[in-house]
Amino acid sequence: MSAVLIVGAGPVGAVCALALQQQGVNARVLEAQPEDARADGRTLALSHGSRLILDRLGVWGRLEDVTPITRIHISQRGAFGAARLAAEDVGVPALGYVLPYAALTAALKQALADAAIAVDYGVVVERIEPGADMASLHAADGSVHAAPLVVVADGGRGEAAPKPRFERDYDQMAVVCDVQTELPHSNQAYERFTPEGPAALLPKGDRYALVWTAGREDAERIAQLAEAEFLVALARHFGGRQGRFLSAGPRKTFPLKLAWTGSEAADRVVRIGNAAQTLHPVAGQGFNIGLRDAWELASLCGDTPASEIGSAAMLAAYARGRRADVLGGVGFTDFLVRVFSNDIAPLRHARGLGLLALEVLPPLKRFVVRRMIFGARG
Ligand SMILES: Cc1cc2nc3c(=O)[nH]c(=O)nc-3n(C[C@H](O)[C@H](O)[C@H](O)COP(=O)(O)OP(=O)(O)OC[C@H]3O[C@@H](n4cnc5c(N)ncnc54)[C@H](O)[C@@H]3O)c2cc1C
Repeated sequence: MSAVLIVGAGPVGAVCALALQQQGVNARVLEAQPEDARADGRTLALSHGSRLILDRLGVWGRLEDVTPITRIHISQRGAFGAARLAAEDVGVPALGYVLPYAALTAALKQALADAAIAVDYGVVVERIEPGADMASLHAADGSVHAAPLVVVADGGRGEAAPKPRFERDYDQMAVVCDVQTELPHSNQAYERFTPEGPAALLPKGDRYALVWTAGREDAERIAQLAEAEFLVALARHFGGRQGRFLSAGPRKTFPLKLAWTGSEAADRVVRIGNAAQTLHPVAGQGFNIGLRDAWELASLCGDTPASEIGSAAMLAAYARGRRADVLGGVGFTDFLVRVFSNDIAPLRHARGLGLLALEVLPPLKRFVVRRMIFGARG
């Protein structure tokens, strides 16, 4: 029997399984999708800290289609104040990396197979039953699995998701697609705040990945525009720093919300990654916090005597250890969305001053960049 059962072989569940194995702890993963399922076309922004985690697991070297971000330009539309962050400000090779979700999940799937970690594909967990000594998972195919520790890494989409302890619907949606610009990206990303919501351009191969947030109805309309109209609207929204927008790939939308379920856990069940916190994509915090959840949980399991894995004391220590990083990321993201997504004049000026301070005060710049790269421990 495995000491740990993991629900979900997404990036967070897979990293947790690999890190547990490095710690000498045996894990088994149950994944709803069939083994040959193709991942969707979303794009991920990984921090330098996430790269270090993937490096230690031997996954980084296997990744294809990775584009480094060496500079980030932050501005607000129609107001003064801009800040530029650069990798050399903090002495790292890149501030972050952009890659397709599909490339990351494919590399992780291969790493799980090479490490001979058991993954049961096509098993949909329907019910999780906590217990004093063991928690059990009841799957749709009728099978029941039990272990001293169950790690839920189902992205928050599983049937067994509890009600979040804190939720905020931003009434915004993200329109995502790849776009080609007239000027090469030179590994520079943009984060542009507008009253309707933040928009980001992330260098991806020879193009940009666009994440354009807008009110629900506007986002639906923008996603439906004919390509030529879409490119004109995008130029109006973003400005001309990259020259003209030349073409756009297929557009998708997804709703944006904050849902914090938390990792306070008992009875042998713990939630990590998007299952514990779903964040707005501004500043790319959510995914990276999820990888740190997986890494820290595995490290703690490695430091815990085998008979104590999944105990109330271990899970309480995990929750305590993650609190500052997770709540810091939740608060920072929520602050950015709420303070920047409006056109109130005093706030506009305060934001401008904030960006100016970030631009001219190297210690503040280093603090913000290290926070974004390494979380609360930065
Ligand atoms: C539509 C969409 C677009 C996104 N776009 C971006 C983006 O552009 N940039 C960005 O940084 N982040 C984006 N995100 C967020 C990002 O995808 C997540 O932060 C990241 O995928 C979280 O990883 P995870 O492993 O926790 O969850 P997931 O990646 O969601 O993985 C969960 C895994 O659990 C499996 N699973 C679910 N339910 C069950 C069950 N009952 N039984 C067994 N297995 C189960 C799923 O099949 C999946 O493999 C997006 C999210 C969504 C939903």
